[in-house]
Amino acid sequence: MKRRTVLRAGLGAAAVASYPAWRYYRGSKSRLASINAVTSLGTEVTVDASVLSELATSIRGTLLFRDIDGYDLARRIRNRTIDKYPALIAQCTSAADVIEVVSFGNHFQLLTAIKCGGHNIAGNGTCEGGLLIDLSPMRGATVNPELRVASVLGGSLLAELDEKSQAHGLVTTAGTVSHTGVGGLTLGGGLGRLARRYGLTIDNLLAVDIVTPDGELRRASAEEHQDLYWAVRGGGGNFGVVTAFEFQLHALDRQVVGGEIRYPFEKAREVMSFYAEFCQDMPDDLYVDLTIFAPPFGLDSAFYLDVCYSGLISDADRVLEPLRRVAKPIKDEIKAIDYAVLQKDSDDSDPRGRGQHLKSGFVRTIEPA
Ligand SMILES: Cc1cc2nc3c(=O)[nH]c(=O)nc-3n(C[C@H](O)[C@H](O)[C@H](O)COP(=O)(O)OP(=O)(O)OC[C@H]3O[C@@H](n4cnc5c(N)ncnc54)[C@H](O)[C@@H]3O)c2cc1C
Repeated sequence: MKRRTVLRAGLGAAAVASYPAWRYYRGSKSRLASINAVTSLGTEVTVDASVLSELATSIRGTLLFRDIDGYDLARRIRNRTIDKYPALIAQCTSAADVIEVVSFGNHFQLLTAIKCGGHNIAGNGTCEGGLLIDLSPMRGATVNPELRVASVLGGSLLAELDEKSQAHGLVTTAGTVSHTGVGGLTLGGGLGRLARRYGLTIDNLLAVDIVTPDGELRRASAEEHQDLYWAVRGGGGNFGVVTAFEFQLHALDRQVVGGEIRYPFEKAREVMSFYAEFCQDMPDDLYVDLTIFAPPFGLDSAFYLDVCYSGLISDADRVLEPLRRVAKPIKDEIKAIDYAVLQKDSDDSDPRGRGQHLKSGFVRTIEPA
């Protein structure tokens, strides 16, 4: 959308759409209606139908409004306890779409949220009454095996990054649930099974293409817009919409040794004390994540370690032997496994899809109670 046209339309002048708007948004084949939306200051603004019509024709993606087919699915995020209704959802297909939508949102100062994988537990991937920029149509990754660099579109999920990289025997640190968004995970730091070996996801972030709030597409890296490059490595979605990420990759055999080892719940205290010490000196190519699950209502409790050893397979038994010795496991599922398959192992156990309440915090040491 041309900014001057938005300005004119925003001031009440009649804007003439060059195409019938209904061709470009889902739902009934009637003309768009004006909407009321919330600004970032919490005030309400009316966005004229003619402006929406022009926005609809200027992007290749889809505009969704309440009561339109597809709106309800698009507004949902993974944490089902969060139930918000954006005034407008813009499903962007390209950086060009994002530029149009950000300029539009900026003009009306709309409360804006960005959704990639929709996994953010606090619900930052949506908003009530504002503009939701849905990047889910922007998915895909390509790998340059010579440079060992992955280029990933801004709405991609981790599975795309893992699978495309592993096809070339390459990898970078990504999270443990494969349907998490690359966007939110990377911009928040990014921990995963290879973080002890290769650092956080942001340690491997070489560059981003980002549409900043002024509607400009910029490239931020160690060479260009260094301040922005610094900001996106941990600053979340606060500095613009990232339309593409570039990651440094590392060589990794497809086969790692990993899986869960479960202990009797009554051994939890013993194994946790062991875990606290073992983690201090374990090799960087070993990842061990502890889970205690003690649900109410008499449901089954569980206590297990999630393991990934990415060093030499021939060393795995020796390295993992202490985990098998500390207590007699009730289930030992650690085995040689394809890394990309292991990365999907926890997909079903992700509690966000069940709408549970989560809290988080940091512990520096595990002390006996
Ligand atoms: C059970 C569970 C397991 C988890 N496991 C891990 C793990 O192993 N490792 C780890 O590091 N984290 C993990 N997380 C945290 C997860 O990485 C964050 O919740 C992350 O925000 C999810 O990203 P998303 O893109 O799916 O979320 P969304 O809700 O889509 O987005 C989250 C935030 O990122 C912003 N954002 C997303 N994409 C973009 C973009 N392209 N441009 C600009 N801003 C954007 C949004 O504005 C929003 O603020 C876990 C969380 C839970 C609840």
